[in-house]
Amino acid sequence: MTTFIDLGLSEKLLKAIEELGFEYPMPVQEAVIPYLLGGERDVVALAQTGTGKTAAFGLPLLEKLDLQNRNTQALVLSPTRELCVQIAEDMMDFAKHTEGVNIVPVYGGANIRTQMNHLAHGGAHIIVATPGRLLDLMDRGYVHLEDVRNVVMDEADEMLNMGFQEDIDAILEAVPEDRNTLLFSATMPDEIARIAKKYMRNPQEIVIGNRNESTSTVRHIQYTVQSHDKYQTLRRIVDFYPRMYGIVFCRTKAETQEIADRLIREGYNADALHGDLSQIQRDSVMSRFRLRNIKLLVATDVAARGLDVDDLTHIINYTLPDETEVYTHRSGRTGRAGKTGISIAIVTPREAKKIRDIEKVTGKTFEVGTIPTGREICSKQIFSLMDRIEKVDVDEDEIASLLPGVFSRLEWMDKEELIKKMVSLEFNRIISYYKDKEDFQVTRQKHFDVPLAAGYAKIFIGVGKMDGMGPKHILSLINNCMREHPKIDVGRVDIFTRYCLVDVDQSCADEIVSQLQTMHVRGRAVKAGFATEEQLSRGSEKKKDSKPKKYRRK
Ligand code: AMP
Repeated sequence: MTTFIDLGLSEKLLKAIEELGFEYPMPVQEAVIPYLLGGERDVVALAQTGTGKTAAFGLPLLEKLDLQNRNTQALVLSPTRELCVQIAEDMMDFAKHTEGVNIVPVYGGANIRTQMNHLAHGGAHIIVATPGRLLDLMDRGYVHLEDVRNVVMDEADEMLNMGFQEDIDAILEAVPEDRNTLLFSATMPDEIARIAKKYMRNPQEIVIGNRNESTSTVRHIQYTVQSHDKYQTLRRIVDFYPRMYGIVFCRTKAETQEIADRLIREGYNADALHGDLSQIQRDSVMSRFRLRNIKLLVATDVAARGLDVDDLTHIINYTLPDETEVYTHRSGRTGRAGKTGISIAIVTPREAKKIRDIEKVTGKTFEVGTIPTGREICSKQIFSLMDRIEKVDVDEDEIASLLPGVFSRLEWMDKEELIKKMVSLEFNRIISYYKDKEDFQVTRQKHFDVPLAAGYAKIFIGVGKMDGMGPKHILSLINNCMREHPKIDVGRVDIFTRYCLVDVDQSCADEIVSQLQTMHVRGRAVKAGFATEEQLSRGSEKKKDSKPKKYRRK
């Protein structure tokens, strides 16, 4: 087995990695480190997060530094502030026994003056930067790249997704041609290929795992339910896995907040992470999650990026992303370090195609989950408690002084009584919740084979003629709640006395529904959801005699 010594790292770095507990190089390190140390060729590495990328580029960058030269010699570009900070911190850990190394993270959204001071006074052998902020600092004359010999682009696909393409071009134009470039990306869109071609010299392509492959230790499970059962499904799944430590991914900020609020209200150890929170709030949520003070993080993809947390037991896709790559990213956050992770997708029947697309691209098959019944959940919870009781370490010395008081207080209770009370104490909340709840099961696709124009989803909005709603009002309601999306397609609109059914562009339907739920009409909160079977058949009966016009948003 290859060791870090074989890879040619020096004593100071070897000592630091040993202290970090790295025994053997991970595959990406084994593949990339010799190339960077050799310095002959550029490298494009297709690797997911969590594969050990930071050490793969961080160690050789440190190894190659000339510490006598105070100028910047290496540049690491990364898409987000969080990732910049994480990379810089990891590199400082690697450089723990290498004296006099300056590693400076610079990123947008933070005070530029502090960063300018840092660069001007301390200097920076290595700058870890988001592209926009780096350019800004270059323009202001605080960054000098003449001595840069190594450029690393981490999560290059994410940087492009975030619109940094021109900034990256400008930065790469500004560094000396005589340099080594290393590009990491989870996927290989055309634009990455273009950058590789234009700015890299005959790059060696290294693929860690298969392209777009999800981590092999991840089980993928789908629960197909009607839209109005999604939250209950989430609750049941969370209750069924009492030791869950995971991320629930939602699509919009509003949905993220709503689900987190609901979980918190219902007694779960959860919190929300999305872009509407201030940086201070985001930092606080992330650090509490890292410390496991929060067990369930409800997050958007963008906000969760750069949150480097190992050992997640579950990823829950409360809403599936549009792109398979995003799903791969999400699920790649679990099942690390040889452990099995579970990636769950809670989908509506209309999303069946997305599941098939993901299966096609990743080559993985989703298991079809059955929603746990109330009984199953309660017995699983109790089992988990028994397990914890059996396994807990008892520190005899520490508790010795406390026990006499406890014994004398509980002496009158027999063992059975004590156990019953303990179980009730722990489970009354869950038992009483599930006592009257009807169990429900996954929905089969065929129930929804109701005539509907292709590409549309039929949604239910709980306002109708009684509320004075006409087609124009419905369209403006949708317009108002979807201001960010100028091109939403609205098809058929059927208005009934108390509600209406509207065909909307399928790809935005989830978001429209969740946005509508935040709206008010005549002072009343709007109810919205996907049309139920009953409503759907009512809608299609109506179609025959009422000849509604087709409305389309301009
Ligand atoms: P990264 O992809 O750089 O975010 O790394 C993922 C995780 O793997 C981090 O927590 C690293 O500390 C850890 N790690 C990196 N290299 C090794 C290694 N050779 N052995 C054990 N753990 C590692």
